[in-house]
Amino acid sequence: MAEKLARARLEVSSLTLSVERYSNFGEGFLASLLQSKVLKAALKTNGQRYQIVAVDRRLSAIAQQFPSTYFTELSVLVMNPEGETLFYYEDGDEPFSELDAALKPRVLATFGKGDSRRLIVEGEQQKLQYIRRVNLETMRAPLYADDREAVTIALLFNMPEFNEELQRLVADSSLNAEVTALPQKNAQQTQDHRALAEVSGLLRLEVTIDQGQLNNDSHRLLLEFVLNFLVIVFFSAWVLLALIRRYITEPIHQLQSGIGEAINRQQPLPDYSEGCDEISQLGHEFSQLYSQLQGAYESKKKLAETDNLTHLDNRYTFGQCLNRMLERSNISGVKLALLYIDLDNFKAVNDRYGHEMGDLILREFSVSLCDALRITDLVMAREQSVARLAGDEFGVLLPDIQREVDLYPVCERIIKLFEGGFNSSRGKFSISASIGIAIYPDDGSSAVELTRNADAAMYQAKASGRDQYAFYSAELAERTRRERSIDLALKSQPFDEFTLYYMPIISTEDSSVKSVEALLRWQSPTLGFVSPVEFIPIGEANGVFEALDLWVVQRALRDTPRLLEFFGEGLIVSINISSAQLNSGGFFLNLMLCFQQSEIPTNRIQLEITETFAVEIGAHVEANLSLLKQAGFILALDDFGTGYTSLSQLIDYPLDVIKIDKSLVDRMVDERGRDLVLSLIGFCKQQGFSVTVEGVETAEQADMLTAGGADSLQGFHFSKPQALEAFADDGFNHYHPSLLR
Ligand SMILES: [Mg+2]
Repeated sequence: MAEKLARARLEVSSLTLSVERYSNFGEGFLASLLQSKVLKAALKTNGQRYQIVAVDRRLSAIAQQFPSTYFTELSVLVMNPEGETLFYYEDGDEPFSELDAALKPRVLATFGKGDSRRLIVEGEQQKLQYIRRVNLETMRAPLYADDREAVTIALLFNMPEFNEELQRLVADSSLNAEVTALPQKNAQQTQDHRALAEVSGLLRLEVTIDQGQLNNDSHRLLLEFVLNFLVIVFFSAWVLLALIRRYITEPIHQLQSGIGEAINRQQPLPDYSEGCDEISQLGHEFSQLYSQLQGAYESKKKLAETDNLTHLDNRYTFGQCLNRMLERSNISGVKLALLYIDLDNFKAVNDRYGHEMGDLILREFSVSLCDALRITDLVMAREQSVARLAGDEFGVLLPDIQREVDLYPVCERIIKLFEGGFNSSRGKFSISASIGIAIYPDDGSSAVELTRNADAAMYQAKASGRDQYAFYSAELAERTRRERSIDLALKSQPFDEFTLYYMPIISTEDSSVKSVEALLRWQSPTLGFVSPVEFIPIGEANGVFEALDLWVVQRALRDTPRLLEFFGEGLIVSINISSAQLNSGGFFLNLMLCFQQSEIPTNRIQLEITETFAVEIGAHVEANLSLLKQAGFILALDDFGTGYTSLSQLIDYPLDVIKIDKSLVDRMVDERGRDLVLSLIGFCKQQGFSVTVEGVETAEQADMLTAGGADSLQGFHFSKPQALEAFADDGFNHYHPSLLR
């Protein structure tokens, strides 16, 4: 609207200027006419035609000083005071023009009203009309009203430029242009929707902006603006999206696809190092980051899948591999073998030489084991897994087994690694391997079952004397299960289920009870009665027996005062000590600690050491035997005749008593058996040993052995092992009747 108003005001100003120019033209024309003597001369000739023509020419000359198109229809009327026409001129080629009929009445109406200037509307044309009264002599305004020499001059002309401009303004439908004649006072341009002008005191122009039109225009403009804005917005958005897609999302998508594909296929990432744009830099950075992550992942994966010490597979990876092989075996129908390998006597090596040496042996055995498997046709170029499952336990998976015998060379090759001891870079070590073998699907339908049964077979191999391999069997498994239960029970219980029984040893001299042997008994709520034959080897192997031996010593010392009450102050209490203890550096100290807490003197105690110690005798054994001897203990060699002690060794040890094993007594049914036992007794006596014979079950045996020189006898013929309080019964005879002759 402001724009229209400004335009309207511009139009009005232009019209004002235009009418001012025409007004100046009219004033100038009149001035020229009055200064010209022609008009004065013509009026004095009383209408001579030639003089009129001269005036016409003069007026034409004056008019021609202006552009011909600038004004039209110029006419000049001169009248005397009586209202008579003295002269009439009209611009044109016709010298004797007819008087405009409307002009004269308008001039007459001005008589007595002074000079005037006004607009005359004729049709659509606006004409400017001047009326002047002048004295013919002076050609100036008359000095008095009734001057008879005064004439009235009327000038009238059309204004083409003004009219054209005015009509264009009026024709503008958006502007309500209104032209009114004066007088219209106080025309101002103060209203918002109007442009007003008073033009040279002649007319008043009022241009009103059409409010409806304005509103329409505003709405149209607003609509145009909104549409243009929306078009620009949508176009800009489209361009922006296209640019984003072209330069950002598309490259990112390509980057994402490239990275995703590379990761899925486990291939190296594409090379982004050549590009200079942000996406290439991003790809390059990601590629580097991915490489670092991949390296870290591979490193962590390797750590998680392998055993840190040996770099073989660990238990987890072994399990994964086993599951894969089982699935493959299910499809192909080919058998699969699981070897469970355990190193025998490894704990002793660890205890004796330290864990550093133990770790070295494990590493070197791992290498040897892999070498032994690699040269085996069975596993070449096929998936296999060699794993360290626990401390000194290893597992091997051998796929595609056709027959059981195919496994023999593999196992023998592994066993052979320990032939004469294990050859390590630090020397030879007395260890061996026990191998348990379970075959899928014969020996187990799942990974867990197969592993458990291979483990059971391995324990059976150990129980059968170690350094060998054993195939799984159900019977074997049951035996092994019980041994494992005994093993676990020994490790977990504080020996509450154990009790001590005492077996009297009878003196052949006076048939009195010379000593009693403390024997361990185990009645388990879950395992039932567990024979010492079952649990002693297991306890020795798992390292529990040192603690159990000490428990036996403590319990025997606690019972000794009571035993002395039963059998007299001279009684000797005999305690069995596992030969393994003689290899332990701390055993002697622990033993002496038990005696410090007791009032029982050491010379009341006989320590029975099983004969097998002799085969592994070393510095520790000799030192411990000497210490025990010096401490005052009576030392007895138990079960003589079943082990491997040579006669020459026998006389070197600081022993007091030799206990001849029951197996030799059982052979006294014939002459040779009797001679053997009696000769042995004779030999021991000659060497200064006291001789006790075990396993005496008949009076005949007792008689022969007494006659043969044995110092003491022990066996069911005299008494079974009995609980402590059983000796309190009055019925127990401290002197065996069979010897009281
Ligand atoms: Mg014994």
